Amino acid sequence: IMQQGRKMTAVAQAAWAGFVRTGDVVVDATCGNGLDSLWLARAVGRSGKLYAFDIQADAVSTTRHLLHEHSSEHPDDAQDFEVVQACHSNLKEHVREPPQLVCFNLGFLPGGDRDIITRPGTSVAAVQAALDIVRPDGLVSVLAYTGHPGGREEYEAVRALGTRQDPARLTVFEQCIANRPTAPVLLLFLKRSPGQ
Ligand code: SAM
Repeated sequence: IMQQGRKMTAVAQAAWAGFVRTGDVVVDATCGNGLDSLWLARAVGRSGKLYAFDIQADAVSTTRHLLHEHSSEHPDDAQDFEVVQACHSNLKEHVREPPQLVCFNLGFLPGGDRDIITRPGTSVAAVQAALDIVRPDGLVSVLAYTGHPGGREEYEAVRALGTRQDPARLTVFEQCIANRPTAPVLLLFLKRSPGQ
């Protein structure tokens, strides 16, 4: 993971690579410009399924367009995707199969409206919903930013959800860059198999 260098988004993707296999169902809970969705579409392959969420209409149409273009040029990558304009706290209403991975990249869309931002209450509700539906041995990944107003409170709320989890059911890892205090923090919620 450390070989991915200084970008925590790449570190997150390196962590996902250890969990996602061809044919999996995966969820991008904050699709934005669709870059993470594209990574997931490649990772799950033709037989996989991708759900992507964003509250912004522009983000949904950008991601939908990107995935359509990519899938037509790459028939071996995911062809089955649903891009939903909805708050991720409602993800259980849309995701019909237990996913192997649910990923969140919190905060605001780079280059977009900085007032449209993830919030602690809905983020915690959404991570809890993701933990409820993710498969055993699956992963819920949260990249949290502490540098913008409200960001640290949001990170602390999601982290507190992590510290409350029963270690027999979930292992919660935290990864930060110790000498870059404003870099985003990665929280990884790994659901254990029963009896493991
Ligand atoms: N992963 C994206 C990419 O690769 O381009 C970047 C995501 S950006 C940091 C965060 C996104 O979360 C924004 O596009 C924003 O509109 C979205 N968002 C904010 N609140 C949300 C909510 N309650 N439910 C779903 N998405 C939300």
